[in-house]
Amino acid sequence: MSRRKFVAGNWKMNLRSSSAVQLVGDLLASLPAGDCEIAVCPPSLYIPAVALRLRGTRIGVGGQNLWGEKDDAFTGEINGEMLVDCGCAYVILGHSERRQYAGETDAMVSRKLHSALAAGLVPIVCVGETLAQRDAGETQRIVTSQLHGSLADIDSHQASKVVVAYEPVWAIGTGRTATPQQAEEVHLLIRELLGDRFGTSTAAAIRIQYGGSVKPSNAADLLSQPNIDGALVGGASLKVEDFIPIIAAAAQN
Ligand code: PEP
Repeated sequence: MSRRKFVAGNWKMNLRSSSAVQLVGDLLASLPAGDCEIAVCPPSLYIPAVALRLRGTRIGVGGQNLWGEKDDAFTGEINGEMLVDCGCAYVILGHSERRQYAGETDAMVSRKLHSALAAGLVPIVCVGETLAQRDAGETQRIVTSQLHGSLADIDSHQASKVVVAYEPVWAIGTGRTATPQQAEEVHLLIRELLGDRFGTSTAAAIRIQYGGSVKPSNAADLLSQPNIDGALVGGASLKVEDFIPIIAAAAQN
């Protein structure tokens, strides 16, 4: 089964409106040839400006989070329909920073996932173990329970729209990357878990991104693994000279 590689940049809480628009302009000017899906996920305030600049181009736009409810009294929150209204096609859900700093649980991620799917967004659902959990030999257990909890109560049709991102917490923003073998081992586990839940043909079509200090020097090795279908990129997505070679590696693999 050939899956179209998908590279998404998670800008987190960085840039300002003008530098965000400048960055996507620079990306557009240097996009390599080759086929892969590309998205950037700006801070929500900057989504409209970035989406306007990217309209009609090969680069899509995503949110970094949403609130899993319809319009109502939820001060400070935005929902999936609002993201779509502002030009988003994607949303990152359950990023480890939200799990850590905003107390997001698998149950909350699941609610957000249902809401994202209902709004027509492609959800990028993040799972991954901490260093202490890896050292304690708990990687499989943690990834399994996060995946099952976050993808609760969806059917295989809904699952086919989901992108999973395996992001070992110890590799995010640390410069320490999982080796291609370490990453592939967990990606294969995720694919098998998806197969048990949704059937092998659905599982074979679901993209599983790797995230955690992906950079130009390691992208090709990671992306050439059989079950690594793209990358969720933090720090390196903020620099054209780093993000473009990662996109190029995806387009070639
Ligand atoms: C991320 O935030 O999803 C991420 C992978 O960050 P970095 O690439 O900076 O490790």
